[in-house]
Amino acid sequence: MEKIRVIGAGLAGSEAAIYLAKKGYNVDLFEMRPKYQTGAHTTDYPAEFVCSNSLGSLDILSASGLLKQEAIELGSTLFPTAIKNKVPSGNSLSIDRFGFCKEIKEIINSLSNITTINEKYEKIDTSIPTIIATGPLSAKELAQNIKEEFGENDFHFYDAIAPIIEKDSIDFTKAFYASRWDKGNADFINCPMNKEEYENFYNILINAQRAPLKEFEASYFEGCMPIEVMASRGIDTLRFGPMKPVGLFDKRIETQFKKNQFYAVVQLRQDDKMANLYNLVGFQTNLKWGEQKKLIQSIPSLENATITRYGVMHANTFINSPKILNKHLQTKKYANLFFAGQITGVEGYCESISTGLFAAINIDRHLKNKPLISLNNETMLGALIDYITFEEHKKFQPINANWGITKEVEGDKRKLKDKKYKNELRSKRAMDEIEKIKNIIGE
Ligand SMILES: Cc1cc2nc3c(=O)[nH]c(=O)nc-3n(C[C@H](O)[C@H](O)[C@H](O)COP(=O)(O)OP(=O)(O)OC[C@H]3O[C@@H](n4cnc5c(N)ncnc54)[C@H](O)[C@@H]3O)c2cc1C
Repeated sequence: MEKIRVIGAGLAGSEAAIYLAKKGYNVDLFEMRPKYQTGAHTTDYPAEFVCSNSLGSLDILSASGLLKQEAIELGSTLFPTAIKNKVPSGNSLSIDRFGFCKEIKEIINSLSNITTINEKYEKIDTSIPTIIATGPLSAKELAQNIKEEFGENDFHFYDAIAPIIEKDSIDFTKAFYASRWDKGNADFINCPMNKEEYENFYNILINAQRAPLKEFEASYFEGCMPIEVMASRGIDTLRFGPMKPVGLFDKRIETQFKKNQFYAVVQLRQDDKMANLYNLVGFQTNLKWGEQKKLIQSIPSLENATITRYGVMHANTFINSPKILNKHLQTKKYANLFFAGQITGVEGYCESISTGLFAAINIDRHLKNKPLISLNNETMLGALIDYITFEEHKKFQPINANWGITKEVEGDKRKLKDKKYKNELRSKRAMDEIEKIKNIIGE
């Protein structure tokens, strides 16, 4: 069987390599870690989750849940493995990150036709079919080579990581377990604040020093904005964002139901299977580490918090997909070369995994001389690819799964005002299309 190269054993690359190995190809999987580090990965495992351990909703009536379900139907290995490694977090899929990537490593090791090559891949060789999935922190040499090959300017934006703390260091006389509006299990730890405490926190935050940014000016992805940037937009921005108190009740306190008990709430989400570690939800930050400690310890119930990982910010590289890629994730210039994952301008874990799978499906078809697959924009994966390959973008920016990129549903306008009804229609038509594609792939 023919040899295929997959570059980068991250989320997209691992998904692609496993799919192709199961199809019988000899896969050379290039991964530069542990010899060279990205600055965000901390292990030498494949498919490492570099920040949050959450993959978002599992509900098929949500954009992210639909994307997962589509990929599962099309043959994903990573999503079912993530579900096996789920930790409690209400309706969403959060995982034990080490359990997950250890299992992915075992799967890769069990496939004797995958050879992992721990080298930095620096120069594209189009004589061998290749999927490049080197992610947002692609090594500079390869990024430079891509630039030379495709004659495009680099694109960058900044992304930020939230701190993680030890559960044992939380003061539970003040903190309490609850999910918003009591939905699902009480999986989140909530640290409530009154007005005075919030104002104190806010003052520390807006006066805190930020770590200097290097090389180029920061332009933030709105979905991953650092708290200090959010706070600079106004004193109440955080109270209407990640610190919103609505629907969070400490049942130990007598109160009238549906009335806000608190002025602001910091939520903590379980980060490991043992439930020893918790990350601060929405607290991506680029503050200097000493300032982060001061800020976190100003939060009532976290006065003695032990911080096991501080927030950091990093550059995020992506190619100009609208010019470089077609709807099969194949480069327009070289039929043997595909891109997948965050480097294509999709944003997020689920999006990276799904595009890894899609590029693998298509490189397999390309090598078998079968027509390549494209998905319509009624599916979430199809809509994402449609978006990143849309040639008319004025300024191409990364995108994550959302309903706005999918085709409008038609029908009774009055009925469509009901969001649940509308999403049921959207999910059904998407899964019908996936079923058709699945049959084509299986032929
Ligand atoms: C710091 C940070 C925090 C993030 N936080 C979140 C989050 O909380 N939630 C979310 O949904 N998304 C987050 N993202 C975005 C994105 O979902 C992840 O980066 C995701 O891991 C991307 O998957 P990928 O497969 O494209 O790249 P990666 O998972 O990064 O995999 C790329 C792999 O390629 C390797 N590599 C790079 N260059 C070379 C080379 N030249 N040769 C060989 N190997 C190479 C790297 O070592 C890495 O293992 C974050 C990204 C970063 C960088």
